[in-house]
Amino acid sequence: MSSASSLSQARRRARPVLVGGVTVGGRAPIVVQSMTNTDTANVPATVDQVSALALAGSELVRVTVNTAAAAAAVPLIRRELDLRGITVPLVGDFHFNGHKLLAEFPECASVLDKYRINPGNVGRGSRRDEQFAQLIALAVRHGKPVRIGVNWGSLDQEVLARFMDDNAAKAVPDPVELVMRAALVASALESAALAEQLGLPGDRIILSCKVSGVQDLIAVYRDLATRCNYPLHLGLTEAGMGSKGIVASTAAMSVLLQEGIGDTIRVSLTPEPGGDRTQEVVVAQEILQTMGLRAFTPMVTACPGCGRTTSTYFQELASRIQTYLRDNMPLWRTRFPGVEHLHVAVMGCVVNGPGESKLADIGISLPGSGERPVAPVYVEGEKTVTLKGDRIAEEFQALVYEYVQRRYGTNDTRKAI
Ligand code: SF4
Repeated sequence: MSSASSLSQARRRARPVLVGGVTVGGRAPIVVQSMTNTDTANVPATVDQVSALALAGSELVRVTVNTAAAAAAVPLIRRELDLRGITVPLVGDFHFNGHKLLAEFPECASVLDKYRINPGNVGRGSRRDEQFAQLIALAVRHGKPVRIGVNWGSLDQEVLARFMDDNAAKAVPDPVELVMRAALVASALESAALAEQLGLPGDRIILSCKVSGVQDLIAVYRDLATRCNYPLHLGLTEAGMGSKGIVASTAAMSVLLQEGIGDTIRVSLTPEPGGDRTQEVVVAQEILQTMGLRAFTPMVTACPGCGRTTSTYFQELASRIQTYLRDNMPLWRTRFPGVEHLHVAVMGCVVNGPGESKLADIGISLPGSGERPVAPVYVEGEKTVTLKGDRIAEEFQALVYEYVQRRYGTNDTRKAI
Protein backbone atom coordinates (compact mmCIF):
# COMPACT_ATOMS: atom_id res chain seq x y z
CA MET A 1 0.00 0.00 0.00
CA SER A 2 1.18 3.50 -0.72
CA SER A 3 1.84 6.02 1.97
CA ALA A 4 -0.32 9.13 2.15
CA SER A 5 2.34 11.25 3.76
CA SER A 6 2.95 13.21 0.58
CA LEU A 7 -0.74 14.11 0.46
CA SER A 8 -1.18 15.37 4.00
CA GLN A 9 -2.85 18.75 4.45
CA ALA A 10 -3.01 20.00 0.82
CA ARG A 11 -6.01 18.86 -1.18
CA ARG A 12 -5.11 16.37 -3.86
CA ARG A 13 -5.65 18.15 -7.17
CA ALA A 14 -7.82 15.91 -9.33
CA ARG A 15 -8.64 16.64 -12.93
CA PRO A 16 -12.03 18.41 -12.83
CA VAL A 17 -15.10 16.66 -14.26
CA LEU A 18 -18.29 18.52 -15.12
CA VAL A 19 -21.50 16.75 -14.04
CA GLY A 20 -24.48 18.75 -15.25
CA GLY A 21 -23.58 22.20 -13.92
CA VAL A 22 -21.53 20.86 -11.01
CA THR A 23 -17.75 20.54 -11.10
CA VAL A 24 -16.23 17.59 -9.27
CA GLY A 25 -12.49 17.78 -8.62
CA GLY A 26 -9.99 20.51 -9.46
CA ARG A 27 -10.40 23.50 -7.19
CA ALA A 28 -14.15 22.95 -6.80
CA PRO A 29 -15.62 22.53 -3.32
CA ILE A 30 -16.14 18.93 -2.23
CA VAL A 31 -19.54 17.96 -3.62
CA VAL A 32 -22.26 16.39 -1.47
CA GLN A 33 -24.30 13.70 -3.14
CA SER A 34 -27.05 11.30 -2.20
CA MET A 35 -29.12 8.48 -3.61
CA THR A 36 -32.86 7.85 -3.66
CA ASN A 37 -34.42 4.67 -2.28
CA THR A 38 -37.72 4.93 -4.12
CA ASP A 39 -38.70 2.73 -7.04
CA THR A 40 -37.51 4.94 -9.90
CA ALA A 41 -40.50 3.79 -11.98
CA ASN A 42 -42.69 5.50 -9.37
CA VAL A 43 -42.32 9.00 -10.78
CA PRO A 44 -44.19 11.02 -8.10
CA ALA A 45 -42.38 9.31 -5.22
CA THR A 46 -38.98 9.69 -6.86
CA VAL A 47 -39.59 13.33 -7.78
CA ASP A 48 -40.61 14.05 -4.19
CA GLN A 49 -37.53 12.37 -2.79
CA VAL A 50 -35.09 13.95 -5.25
CA SER A 51 -36.66 17.33 -4.43
CA ALA A 52 -36.28 16.72 -0.70
CA LEU A 53 -32.65 15.64 -1.10
CA ALA A 54 -31.86 18.64 -3.31
CA LEU A 55 -33.58 21.08 -0.94
CA ALA A 56 -31.60 19.57 1.94
CA GLY A 57 -28.47 20.49 -0.04
CA SER A 58 -27.59 17.44 -2.10
CA GLU A 59 -25.69 18.71 -5.14
CA LEU A 60 -25.99 15.50 -7.16
CA VAL A 61 -28.70 12.86 -6.76
CA ARG A 62 -28.36 9.29 -7.99
CA VAL A 63 -31.31 7.13 -8.94
CA THR A 64 -31.38 3.42 -9.65
CA VAL A 65 -32.02 2.59 -13.30
CA ASN A 66 -32.59 -1.14 -13.16
CA THR A 67 -35.57 -1.84 -15.42
CA ALA A 68 -37.19 -0.62 -18.62
CA ALA A 69 -39.88 1.07 -16.51
CA ALA A 70 -37.22 2.91 -14.49
CA ALA A 71 -35.39 4.01 -17.65
CA ALA A 72 -38.67 5.22 -19.15
CA ALA A 73 -39.43 7.16 -15.96
CA VAL A 74 -36.16 9.09 -15.86
CA PRO A 75 -37.12 11.73 -18.48
CA LEU A 76 -40.49 12.21 -16.75
CA ILE A 77 -38.69 12.69 -13.42
CA ARG A 78 -36.34 15.24 -14.96
CA ARG A 79 -39.26 17.13 -16.52
CA GLU A 80 -41.21 17.28 -13.28
CA LEU A 81 -38.12 18.39 -11.32
CA ASP A 82 -37.50 21.17 -13.86
CA LEU A 83 -41.12 22.30 -13.49
CA ARG A 84 -40.54 22.53 -9.74
CA GLY A 85 -37.36 24.53 -10.29
CA ILE A 86 -35.17 21.68 -8.98
CA THR A 87 -32.11 21.72 -11.19
CA VAL A 88 -29.98 19.17 -9.32
CA PRO A 89 -28.06 16.91 -11.75
CA LEU A 90 -29.31 13.32 -11.89
CA VAL A 91 -26.98 10.35 -11.96
CA GLY A 92 -28.15 6.95 -13.22
CA ASP A 93 -27.00 3.86 -11.35
CA PHE A 94 -26.58 0.90 -13.72
CA HIS A 95 -25.85 -2.76 -13.09
CA PHE A 96 -26.07 -5.87 -15.32
CA ASN A 97 -28.36 -4.38 -18.01
CA GLY A 98 -27.12 -0.77 -18.24
CA HIS A 99 -25.83 -1.24 -21.79
CA LYS A 100 -29.29 -2.34 -22.93
CA LEU A 101 -31.28 0.27 -21.02
CA LEU A 102 -29.13 3.18 -22.19
CA ALA A 103 -29.34 1.97 -25.79
CA GLU A 104 -33.09 1.31 -25.72
CA PHE A 105 -34.01 4.50 -23.85
CA PRO A 106 -32.00 7.29 -25.51
CA GLU A 107 -33.99 10.00 -23.75
CA CYS A 108 -32.99 8.50 -20.43
CA ALA A 109 -29.37 8.40 -21.61
CA SER A 110 -29.64 12.01 -22.68
CA VAL A 111 -31.25 13.57 -19.59
CA LEU A 112 -29.00 11.85 -17.07
CA ASP A 113 -25.97 13.95 -16.17
CA LYS A 114 -23.68 11.04 -15.31
CA TYR A 115 -23.71 7.26 -15.45
CA ARG A 116 -22.44 5.13 -12.61
CA ILE A 117 -21.25 1.73 -13.70
CA ASN A 118 -19.79 -1.08 -11.63
CA PRO A 119 -17.12 -3.10 -13.48
CA GLY A 120 -17.97 -6.12 -11.34
CA ASN A 121 -21.59 -6.09 -12.50
CA VAL A 122 -21.24 -5.19 -16.16
CA GLY A 123 -21.33 -8.76 -17.39
CA ARG A 124 -19.63 -12.11 -17.06
CA GLY A 125 -16.83 -13.69 -19.07
CA SER A 126 -16.47 -12.57 -22.67
CA ARG A 127 -19.63 -10.48 -22.39
CA ARG A 128 -18.09 -8.31 -19.72
CA ASP A 129 -15.70 -6.47 -22.07
CA GLU A 130 -18.31 -6.24 -24.81
CA GLN A 131 -20.96 -4.77 -22.48
CA PHE A 132 -18.47 -2.45 -20.83
CA ALA A 133 -17.50 -1.18 -24.31
CA GLN A 134 -21.18 -0.63 -25.16
CA LEU A 135 -21.68 1.41 -21.98
CA ILE A 136 -18.64 3.54 -22.68
CA ALA A 137 -19.72 4.05 -26.31
CA LEU A 138 -23.11 5.29 -25.08
CA ALA A 139 -21.44 7.69 -22.63
CA VAL A 140 -19.25 9.00 -25.46
CA ARG A 141 -22.23 9.35 -27.79
CA HIS A 142 -24.24 11.30 -25.23
CA GLY A 143 -21.27 13.29 -23.94
CA LYS A 144 -21.70 12.07 -20.37
CA PRO A 145 -19.21 11.53 -17.57
CA VAL A 146 -19.02 8.12 -15.94
CA ARG A 147 -18.28 7.08 -12.40
CA ILE A 148 -16.49 3.77 -12.41
CA GLY A 149 -17.68 2.56 -9.05
CA VAL A 150 -16.01 -0.57 -7.76
CA ASN A 151 -17.58 -2.17 -4.72
CA TRP A 152 -16.18 -4.67 -2.25
CA GLY A 153 -19.36 -6.75 -2.45
CA SER A 154 -19.34 -7.03 -6.23
CA LEU A 155 -15.65 -6.98 -7.05
CA ASP A 156 -14.81 -8.21 -10.54
CA GLN A 157 -14.13 -11.92 -9.89
CA GLU A 158 -11.64 -12.24 -12.72
CA VAL A 159 -9.49 -9.44 -11.32
CA LEU A 160 -9.73 -10.93 -7.85
CA ALA A 161 -8.81 -14.41 -9.10
CA ARG A 162 -5.76 -13.00 -10.90
CA PHE A 163 -4.55 -11.24 -7.74
CA MET A 164 -5.23 -14.32 -5.61
CA ASP A 165 -3.27 -16.55 -8.00
CA ASP A 166 -0.32 -14.14 -8.07
CA ASN A 167 -0.38 -13.93 -4.30
CA ALA A 168 -0.51 -17.70 -3.89
CA ALA A 169 2.62 -17.98 -6.01
CA LYS A 170 4.61 -15.74 -3.66
CA ALA A 171 7.08 -17.32 -1.25
CA VAL A 172 5.32 -15.51 1.58
CA PRO A 173 1.77 -14.66 0.49
CA ASP A 174 0.17 -11.41 1.68
CA PRO A 175 -2.88 -11.51 3.94
CA VAL A 176 -6.10 -11.91 1.97
CA GLU A 177 -7.41 -8.48 2.92
CA LEU A 178 -4.36 -6.81 1.39
CA VAL A 179 -4.86 -8.79 -1.80
CA MET A 180 -8.52 -7.77 -1.94
CA ARG A 181 -7.67 -4.11 -1.42
CA ALA A 182 -5.13 -4.26 -4.23
CA ALA A 183 -7.64 -6.02 -6.50
CA LEU A 184 -10.25 -3.33 -5.85
CA VAL A 185 -7.87 -0.54 -6.78
CA ALA A 186 -6.66 -2.46 -9.84
CA SER A 187 -10.23 -3.07 -10.99
CA ALA A 188 -10.98 0.67 -10.85
CA LEU A 189 -7.75 1.75 -12.52
CA GLU A 190 -7.84 -0.93 -15.24
CA SER A 191 -11.46 -0.12 -16.03
CA ALA A 192 -10.67 3.59 -16.27
CA ALA A 193 -7.72 2.87 -18.56
CA LEU A 194 -9.95 0.69 -20.74
CA ALA A 195 -12.64 3.40 -20.85
CA GLU A 196 -10.04 5.91 -22.05
CA GLN A 197 -8.81 3.46 -24.70
CA LEU A 198 -12.42 3.13 -25.85
CA GLY A 199 -12.63 6.88 -26.37
CA LEU A 200 -14.02 8.28 -23.11
CA PRO A 201 -11.95 11.38 -22.32
CA GLY A 202 -10.09 11.23 -19.01
CA ASP A 203 -11.87 14.37 -17.84
CA ARG A 204 -15.15 12.48 -17.89
CA ILE A 205 -14.11 9.79 -15.42
CA ILE A 206 -14.66 9.71 -11.67
CA LEU A 207 -13.56 6.74 -9.59
CA SER A 208 -14.77 5.11 -6.41
CA CYS A 209 -13.73 1.99 -4.52
CA LYS A 210 -16.29 1.46 -1.80
CA VAL A 211 -15.82 -0.92 1.07
CA SER A 212 -17.64 -1.35 4.35
CA GLY A 213 -14.67 -1.35 6.73
CA VAL A 214 -13.15 1.89 7.96
CA GLN A 215 -9.49 0.79 7.80
CA ASP A 216 -10.02 -0.82 4.39
CA LEU A 217 -11.54 2.37 3.01
CA ILE A 218 -8.68 4.51 4.26
CA ALA A 219 -6.05 2.13 2.85
CA VAL A 220 -7.77 1.72 -0.51
CA TYR A 221 -8.30 5.44 -1.11
CA ARG A 222 -4.78 6.35 -0.02
CA ASP A 223 -3.53 3.93 -2.64
CA LEU A 224 -5.94 5.10 -5.31
CA ALA A 225 -5.15 8.76 -4.67
CA THR A 226 -1.45 8.31 -5.36
CA ARG A 227 -2.01 6.35 -8.56
CA CYS A 228 -4.35 8.50 -10.62
CA ASN A 229 -5.65 12.03 -10.96
CA TYR A 230 -9.30 11.21 -11.55
CA PRO A 231 -11.67 12.82 -9.04
CA LEU A 232 -12.55 10.40 -6.25
CA HIS A 233 -16.03 9.74 -4.96
CA LEU A 234 -15.69 8.91 -1.28
CA GLY A 235 -18.04 6.84 0.78
CA LEU A 236 -18.25 3.89 3.06
CA THR A 237 -20.68 1.43 1.56
CA GLU A 238 -23.27 -0.29 3.74
CA ALA A 239 -22.28 2.01 6.59
CA GLY A 240 -25.24 0.86 8.65
CA MET A 241 -28.01 2.42 10.67
CA GLY A 242 -28.18 5.30 13.09
CA SER A 243 -25.14 6.29 15.11
CA LYS A 244 -23.10 3.30 13.88
CA GLY A 245 -23.45 4.38 10.25
CA ILE A 246 -22.77 8.01 11.05
CA VAL A 247 -19.72 7.30 13.19
CA ALA A 248 -18.21 4.79 10.77
CA SER A 249 -18.68 7.10 7.78
CA THR A 250 -17.33 10.08 9.66
CA ALA A 251 -14.32 8.22 11.01
CA ALA A 252 -13.31 6.89 7.60
CA MET A 253 -14.00 9.96 5.54
CA SER A 254 -12.51 12.44 7.99
CA VAL A 255 -9.11 10.77 7.88
CA LEU A 256 -9.10 10.86 4.08
CA LEU A 257 -10.52 14.36 3.76
CA GLN A 258 -7.90 15.62 6.20
CA GLU A 259 -5.27 14.17 3.87
CA GLY A 260 -6.81 16.02 0.94
CA ILE A 261 -8.42 12.90 -0.57
CA GLY A 262 -12.00 13.02 -1.84
CA ASP A 263 -13.76 15.28 -4.34
CA THR A 264 -17.35 14.23 -3.72
CA ILE A 265 -18.86 12.35 -0.79
CA ARG A 266 -21.90 10.29 -0.02
CA VAL A 267 -22.89 8.96 3.39
CA SER A 268 -24.66 5.63 2.79
CA LEU A 269 -26.88 5.41 5.84
CA THR A 270 -29.54 2.76 6.20
CA PRO A 271 -32.63 4.78 7.15
CA GLU A 272 -34.76 3.75 10.10
CA PRO A 273 -38.11 2.34 8.88
CA GLY A 274 -40.05 5.41 7.77
CA GLY A 275 -36.96 7.54 8.45
CA ASP A 276 -35.96 10.63 6.54
CA ARG A 277 -33.69 9.98 3.57
CA THR A 278 -32.31 13.51 3.78
CA GLN A 279 -30.37 12.52 6.89
CA GLU A 280 -27.54 11.29 4.69
CA VAL A 281 -27.24 14.77 3.19
CA VAL A 282 -27.24 16.44 6.60
CA VAL A 283 -24.52 14.12 7.87
CA ALA A 284 -22.35 14.66 4.77
CA GLN A 285 -22.69 18.42 5.14
CA GLU A 286 -21.90 18.26 8.84
CA ILE A 287 -18.75 16.22 8.21
CA LEU A 288 -17.50 18.84 5.76
CA GLN A 289 -18.60 21.79 7.85
CA THR A 290 -17.24 20.61 11.18
CA MET A 291 -13.91 19.94 9.45
CA GLY A 292 -13.89 23.50 8.15
CA LEU A 293 -13.94 22.36 4.52
CA ARG A 294 -17.28 23.91 3.54
CA ALA A 295 -20.14 25.84 5.13
CA PHE A 296 -23.77 24.88 4.46
CA THR A 297 -25.90 25.80 7.44
CA PRO A 298 -25.44 28.09 10.42
CA MET A 299 -23.64 26.27 13.22
CA VAL A 300 -25.32 25.94 16.58
CA THR A 301 -22.99 25.52 19.51
CA ALA A 302 -24.88 23.92 22.38
CA CYS A 303 -23.44 22.63 25.61
CA PRO A 304 -24.24 19.02 26.49
CA GLY A 305 -26.16 20.01 29.62
CA CYS A 306 -25.44 18.57 33.03
CA GLY A 307 -26.77 18.54 36.56
CA ARG A 308 -27.05 22.33 36.42
CA THR A 309 -29.78 22.07 33.76
CA THR A 310 -32.62 20.27 35.44
CA SER A 311 -35.36 20.99 32.90
CA THR A 312 -35.53 19.99 29.25
CA TYR A 313 -36.07 23.61 28.24
CA PHE A 314 -32.46 24.09 27.21
CA GLN A 315 -32.44 21.00 24.93
CA GLU A 316 -35.75 22.05 23.42
CA LEU A 317 -34.46 25.51 22.62
CA ALA A 318 -31.22 24.18 21.08
CA SER A 319 -33.20 21.72 18.97
CA ARG A 320 -35.76 24.34 17.99
CA ILE A 321 -33.12 26.81 16.84
CA GLN A 322 -31.23 24.14 14.93
CA THR A 323 -34.41 23.03 13.16
CA TYR A 324 -35.44 26.62 12.49
CA LEU A 325 -32.11 27.44 10.86
CA ARG A 326 -32.03 24.27 8.79
CA ASP A 327 -35.65 24.56 7.64
CA ASN A 328 -35.06 28.11 6.49
CA MET A 329 -31.84 27.43 4.61
CA PRO A 330 -33.42 26.57 1.22
CA LEU A 331 -34.85 30.11 1.20
CA TRP A 332 -32.09 31.87 3.07
CA ARG A 333 -29.31 30.47 0.86
CA THR A 334 -30.34 32.88 -1.89
CA ARG A 335 -31.84 35.68 0.21
CA PHE A 336 -29.03 36.00 2.72
CA PRO A 337 -25.72 35.20 1.01
CA GLY A 338 -23.13 34.10 3.55
CA VAL A 339 -25.68 33.12 6.21
CA GLU A 340 -24.23 29.60 6.22
CA HIS A 341 -21.30 31.03 8.17
CA LEU A 342 -23.56 32.25 11.01
CA HIS A 343 -22.65 30.90 14.43
CA VAL A 344 -25.34 30.64 17.11
CA ALA A 345 -24.80 29.50 20.71
CA VAL A 346 -27.45 28.02 22.98
CA MET A 347 -25.96 27.42 26.41
CA GLY A 348 -27.38 25.89 29.55
CA CYS A 349 -26.06 27.95 32.46
CA VAL A 350 -23.81 30.69 33.67
CA VAL A 351 -20.67 28.47 33.86
CA ASN A 352 -19.82 28.53 30.15
CA GLY A 353 -22.94 30.26 28.79
CA PRO A 354 -21.81 33.88 28.64
CA GLY A 355 -18.34 32.95 27.38
CA GLU A 356 -19.54 30.76 24.50
CA SER A 357 -22.36 33.18 23.70
CA LYS A 358 -19.90 36.02 23.37
CA LEU A 359 -17.78 33.98 20.94
CA ALA A 360 -20.80 33.30 18.71
CA ASP A 361 -22.42 35.82 16.36
CA ILE A 362 -25.53 35.57 18.50
CA GLY A 363 -25.90 33.50 21.63
CA ILE A 364 -28.14 32.94 24.59
CA SER A 365 -27.22 31.76 28.05
CA LEU A 366 -30.19 30.09 29.70
CA PRO A 367 -30.58 29.97 33.47
CA GLY A 368 -29.33 26.82 35.17
CA SER A 369 -31.03 25.47 38.24
CA GLY A 370 -30.80 27.87 41.15
CA GLU A 371 -29.95 30.81 38.87
CA ARG A 372 -32.15 33.87 38.34
CA PRO A 373 -34.73 32.95 35.63
CA VAL A 374 -33.26 35.28 33.03
CA ALA A 375 -31.46 34.62 29.76
CA PRO A 376 -28.94 37.19 28.54
CA VAL A 377 -28.51 37.43 24.77
CA TYR A 378 -25.16 38.39 23.26
CA VAL A 379 -24.71 39.78 19.76
CA GLU A 380 -21.18 39.91 18.40
CA GLY A 381 -19.78 39.69 21.91
CA GLU A 382 -21.97 42.34 23.53
CA LYS A 383 -24.93 41.72 25.85
CA THR A 384 -27.88 43.33 24.09
CA VAL A 385 -30.97 42.17 25.93
CA THR A 386 -32.05 39.87 28.75
CA LEU A 387 -35.04 37.65 28.05
CA LYS A 388 -37.38 36.28 30.70
CA GLY A 389 -40.82 34.74 31.02
CA ASP A 390 -42.31 31.86 29.05
CA ARG A 391 -41.64 33.22 25.55
CA ILE A 392 -37.86 33.11 25.64
CA ALA A 393 -37.72 30.61 22.75
CA GLU A 394 -39.96 32.66 20.43
CA GLU A 395 -38.18 35.90 21.32
CA PHE A 396 -34.71 34.44 20.79
CA GLN A 397 -35.77 32.99 17.43
CA ALA A 398 -37.03 36.43 16.39
CA LEU A 399 -33.72 37.98 17.47
CA VAL A 400 -31.82 35.43 15.37
CA TYR A 401 -33.95 36.29 12.35
CA GLU A 402 -33.46 40.04 12.90
CA TYR A 403 -29.72 39.50 13.12
CA VAL A 404 -29.70 37.43 9.92
CA GLN A 405 -31.66 40.11 8.08
CA ARG A 406 -29.43 42.88 9.33
CA ARG A 407 -26.14 41.15 8.66
CA TYR A 408 -26.83 39.18 5.49
CA GLY A 409 -30.00 40.71 4.08
CA THR A 410 -30.69 42.89 1.13
CA ASN A 411 -34.02 44.73 0.99
CA ASP A 412 -36.11 41.58 0.92
CA THR A 413 -38.56 41.68 3.82
CA ARG A 414 -40.40 38.36 3.28
CA LYS A 415 -40.94 36.45 6.49
CA ALA A 416 -39.02 33.32 7.43
CA ILE A 417 -40.97 30.10 7.67
S1 SF4 B 1 -22.65 25.40 30.34
FE1 SF4 B 1 -23.58 24.95 32.32
S2 SF4 B 1 -25.28 23.56 31.80
FE2 SF4 B 1 -23.94 23.56 30.03
S3 SF4 B 1 -22.62 21.78 30.40
FE3 SF4 B 1 -21.54 23.62 31.16
S4 SF4 B 1 -22.04 23.67 33.34
FE4 SF4 B 1 -23.53 22.29 32.40
